Amino acid sequence: MDSHVSSERASEVRLAGPKLAATRATALLSEPKDPGMNASNQATSVDVVIVGAGFAGLYQLYRARKAGLTARVIEAGEDVGGTWYWNRYPGARCDVESLDYSFSFDKELEQEWTWSERYATQPEILRYIKHVAERFDLARDIQFRTRVTRAVFDEQRKRWTVGTDAGESFDAQFCVLATGCLSIAQAPDFKGLSSFAGKWYHSADWPKEGVDFTGKRVGVIGTGSSGVQMIPLIAEQAGQLTVFQRTANFSVPAQNESLDEEAVRHAKAHYGERRASARESSNGLYLEANDKSALEVSEDERLREFEFRWKGAGGGFRMLRAFNDLLLNETANEYAADFVRSKIRAIVREPKVAELLCPKKDLRFGTKRLCVDSGYYETFNRPNVTLVDVKAAPIEEVTPRGLRTTEGEHELDVLVFATGFDAMTGALRAIDIRGIGGQSLRERWAHGPRTYLGISCAGFPNMFIIAGPGSPSVLSNVVHSIEEHVDWVTRLIQHARKRNADRIEAEAEAENDWVHHVNEVADRTLYPRGNSWYVGANIPGKPRVFMPYVGGVPAYRRILKEVAESGYRGFVLS
Ligand code: NAP
Repeated sequence: MDSHVSSERASEVRLAGPKLAATRATALLSEPKDPGMNASNQATSVDVVIVGAGFAGLYQLYRARKAGLTARVIEAGEDVGGTWYWNRYPGARCDVESLDYSFSFDKELEQEWTWSERYATQPEILRYIKHVAERFDLARDIQFRTRVTRAVFDEQRKRWTVGTDAGESFDAQFCVLATGCLSIAQAPDFKGLSSFAGKWYHSADWPKEGVDFTGKRVGVIGTGSSGVQMIPLIAEQAGQLTVFQRTANFSVPAQNESLDEEAVRHAKAHYGERRASARESSNGLYLEANDKSALEVSEDERLREFEFRWKGAGGGFRMLRAFNDLLLNETANEYAADFVRSKIRAIVREPKVAELLCPKKDLRFGTKRLCVDSGYYETFNRPNVTLVDVKAAPIEEVTPRGLRTTEGEHELDVLVFATGFDAMTGALRAIDIRGIGGQSLRERWAHGPRTYLGISCAGFPNMFIIAGPGSPSVLSNVVHSIEEHVDWVTRLIQHARKRNADRIEAEAEAENDWVHHVNEVADRTLYPRGNSWYVGANIPGKPRVFMPYVGGVPAYRRILKEVAESGYRGFVLS
């Protein structure tokens, strides 16, 4: 096997094949080499251990310091960035607009940083995150190339012992899991992968030096957001590109463009209003919402609105807000789905290919995360691009020469997995977390994640999750949600300290009520019907639970505010 899995990340890519699974499972479940001690046989003691140095971990470090807490961030990668450190595949960029996908906590930072495009590329976002780390002198409290393997709560001392794969140990009053919602990559279990004579890569573990596809026969498996972003760029370089599609998803054009001086000046002059308006929208994004139902307007008006969102208004997630009931009402949803299908048929010249790219009727528009692309459907008009339907003819195995489906072998030099993540719970379950009575979080979550407010778990005192399951997280502008959680958790810690409480724990009843509420709100929408990673459908055997909170950013913020104002209802401080 000649594959690229960076040594930093080797234990993160979920290689589910029987042989390969052993490698990963060993890495993930292994005990620290010398549990409990660092090199000098002393556990390093801090107030807060923060796991992960992406947006969430960096901001938590900044806020912890401001609150007078000592903190240590532990990060598996060689540098800051989190998801933006690992996902370096061609075409990787954020599909939330750069002006919004950025920190709001420091007005000077907001003014001094200038984004070059409406949707920033991965390298530009990584530069921004590094700039933030330097500007606030964060790196001195971050330990890189270290993976947290274990976290155990000591009931007597009311402190966490956090162990790493380097055999070190950290002793901390609080453990903040800033591990990200999409950080455990999933490469599927294909028979024969180890026999492949070419090279293979996963979108979430891309080599820093890049990959030269020039003249190569390339296969891409997966047509979610990552596949849809990389396919147009790989097609430009490859000799022949074969796209293996299992499920056609909906994709809308980004309508990306450079931000000229005037646009930047205007945005910076009105940043406060922009952020305030975003915070009042259901997903925390600055996108004009139309408050009409798709059913109350004429067909002409409906099509005009969809067209405006597809092109004129600026593309991307604006389409989801074309009407107020697209994710609530089957008929409204079908109007949007039909509109996108009509666009696909208009763009893709070969009718059979167009039909294959059209999402089927059983996939409701937006219930699987909407993809945002630049030239995705157009790519299938290129003579060097072939679309293969692996739902009709499933992949049987990887061979030394390529990939065999039930219809025959495709010869390939390079195989790219854009097969997604063990989302939302993967990174949390990857750590052996033990709460009261040695209870394991993995076992506690055997039937799906359970949290109070998406932040805290009963039985796991002094542990907090940033943008965890049960919070708006992946359904929102996640940078906004991260700032909100970090601020809230830090204030909760300060509140407890003022009262001389050194143990903060969610009540089981509050957790039960929250889990019930999260499900109840989700069930009022079409979301749970999609076979998406939102419900864990992409991971064989994962319990089917709708994980994010769909109640909307403003409603969620009001709940957090009420809980804080009530003296942190649902938490026991002792
Ligand atoms: P994904 O959305 O889960 O897509 C994975 C793709 O791989 C799907 O098309 C899936 O098909 C396919 N697949 C998985 N296993 C397969 C198998 N055994 N055989 C054939 N096909 C298989 O993963 P992703 O594209 O990496 O995106 C995940 C999330 O990351 C996104 O939804 C988004 O939230 C985030 N992301 C964001 C950006 C951004 O711009 N901000 C960019 C990239 C990713 P099925 O649909 O049939 O399962």
